[in-house]
This record gives sequence, structure tokens and C-alpha cells, in this order.
Amino acid sequence: MATESSRLDNFIVLKKLGKGATATVKSVQDPNTLQIYAAKILRNQGEHLTARFRELMQNEIQNLARIAHPNIVNIINANENGIYVRKNGKGTYNCMYIVMELCPNGELFDILFKTGRLSEEVARFYFKQIIHGLSACHNAGIAHRDMKPENLLFDSEFNIKIADFGFSTLLVGRDGTGLMHTRLGTESYMAPEFHMRVPYTGESVDLFAAGIILFIMYSQNPPFSKADPNEAYYKALSSGNETFWAMHSRGKSPGHYSADFKDLIKKMLALKPSDRLSAEQIENHNWLQGRIASPQE
Ligand code: ADP
Ligand code: MG
Repeated sequence: MATESSRLDNFIVLKKLGKGATATVKSVQDPNTLQIYAAKILRNQGEHLTARFRELMQNEIQNLARIAHPNIVNIINANENGIYVRKNGKGTYNCMYIVMELCPNGELFDILFKTGRLSEEVARFYFKQIIHGLSACHNAGIAHRDMKPENLLFDSEFNIKIADFGFSTLLVGRDGTGLMHTRLGTESYMAPEFHMRVPYTGESVDLFAAGIILFIMYSQNPPFSKADPNEAYYKALSSGNETFWAMHSRGKSPGHYSADFKDLIKKMLALKPSDRLSAEQIENHNWLQGRIASPQE
């Protein structure tokens, strides 16, 4: 059958939105309601590859369905046995997909690494939403485990939506302890527990990554290459050495980082998980009480 546009089951495929390590994301339209969504599509390829990626996607479907929150991408539909029909009779393939709400304004990553540093007010606006979304995720019993600016998307009003739940897991898994061992995620956002290869909790690694994201939002640079206790910058930060801030103040006035900001970062990125702030403590921290500004203001 020759069709004018590609089809994903009954959805009309519009255009490519993004690509991650596992899947391609395209905008799709429901022909009945005309509503536009984003579909994360995993094409069946080599068997070995597909098995692992299918597992990640099944995991994502299950865990996303457990959470409903304005700062978490909303799942609409999913199919493990979908059919993609290419336009103009160019063939079909089997795939697995998730249909979710469309985030038409890109990734936080693009804003940070292409547009530049955010003002303190806008960083605070986004950061609050990140913490709200993470708290909802943890309250639903789920750890995200891949918090990074590539997985934080913007809806039509520039609200943050946490996406990509492929690495997510139940906080209290089969062993019932809430401790995890699997080393996954992205190195620059990993908590020191990963580098030291000790068991970790899902809440603490997600909040640690949120601390790194906050630092980048405000300074445009990562605080350190990795949170290895032997890495010079991380060592300076975690030991409370002021040189960390001096090292990061190139070209900036010494007052660039407020005392509240420094205090929050230090307490979110502490070496020992037990020294770090909980989500609730973060929300009540002085830095979060300051003025917020929506990027559209
Ligand atoms: P992967 O697991 O392969 O990293 P993601 O779920 O992170 O896949 O999606 C890859 C990219 O696709 C994202 O970084 C983003 O740019 C885009 N994307 C994902 N979900 C949406 C969405 N709901 N709306 C718009 N773009 C999206
Ligand atoms: Mg991703």
C-alpha cells in the first residue's frame, strides 16, 4: 500500500524529533483527534541488540505508567508489537514504541550548551521543577538513574518534563533493601558511590545528578569531570576547600556564586550520601526561596 506519509500503527508520522542511544523519537498524529504526540520507536534489529533494548523499553513503559506528574513526561500509549509502514511503498518493519506527550521545545541540554548560562532566576525556575518531578518519581517508588540535561525536555510553556525512563527501576527491588549495584548512567552525572563501586540508593544518585545539573545551569561548566574522590576539583569541593569556587570563577566576579548557592551545591554533592540533602531539605533550602523567572518573561 502506497501511503503519503509513514504510519506507526494508526498514527501518522510527522517528523523526527530526536535520537538517543536506544531509540528514535518522532512526532506522530492521531488521525481521529488530530492531537500530536511524540513516539519513541525501537526498530527490531539484530536479535541480541533488540533483546537488551526491548528490556529497557519495557521497563520504561512499566515505570512511566506508575507516575503522573506535571514535571514528568506523560505516557499515552505503548505497543510492543507495532508496525511501521514507510511512505511511498518503501516497506514496513516491526517495532516497539511508546507514545507520550510532545515536548516541542527541545532539551535542557540544547539551552545549556548552545544558548549559554542561565540567569539565577531562570535556573531556579527549572531546578524547582526538576526537584518536584524527582520527588514525584521517588514517591511513586521509582529511581530514574539517568538524570542529565539530554533527558530533561521542555513542554510548550517551557516547563521541564523528566523523560527517558529506560534505566529507571523500583526503589525497593527484589532484595527489599533499596540498595542497588548496577553501574549505569552517564559518567559526569554519576554519584561517587558509582566510582567507588559501593551499593547506592536510587534517591541519592538522582539527587546527586540534579546537583550537577544545577551547577551547569548556573555556571555553564560541569563542576568536575567525575565525582571520583581523587579527582582534584571534586576533592576540593567535598572537603569544603574554597579553591573549588576560585577555580570556577574564571572571568566572573568573586560574588558570582552566592553563599546560598555554594551551600546548596556543597550539600547536594557531598561525598557521603548520608551528608546530602533530601529532596524536602532541598526544597526548603534558602537558595530556592529566591526570585524565580520563567524564561518567557
Ligand atoms: P534514549 O533512551 O535513546 O536516550 P530518549 O527517551 O532520551 O531516548 O529520547 C531521545 C531524544 O528524543 C531526547 O533526548 C529528546 O531530544 C527527544 N525526545 C524524547 N522524548 C520526547 C518528547 N516527548 N517530545 C519531544 N522530544 C522528545
Ligand atoms: Mg536519553
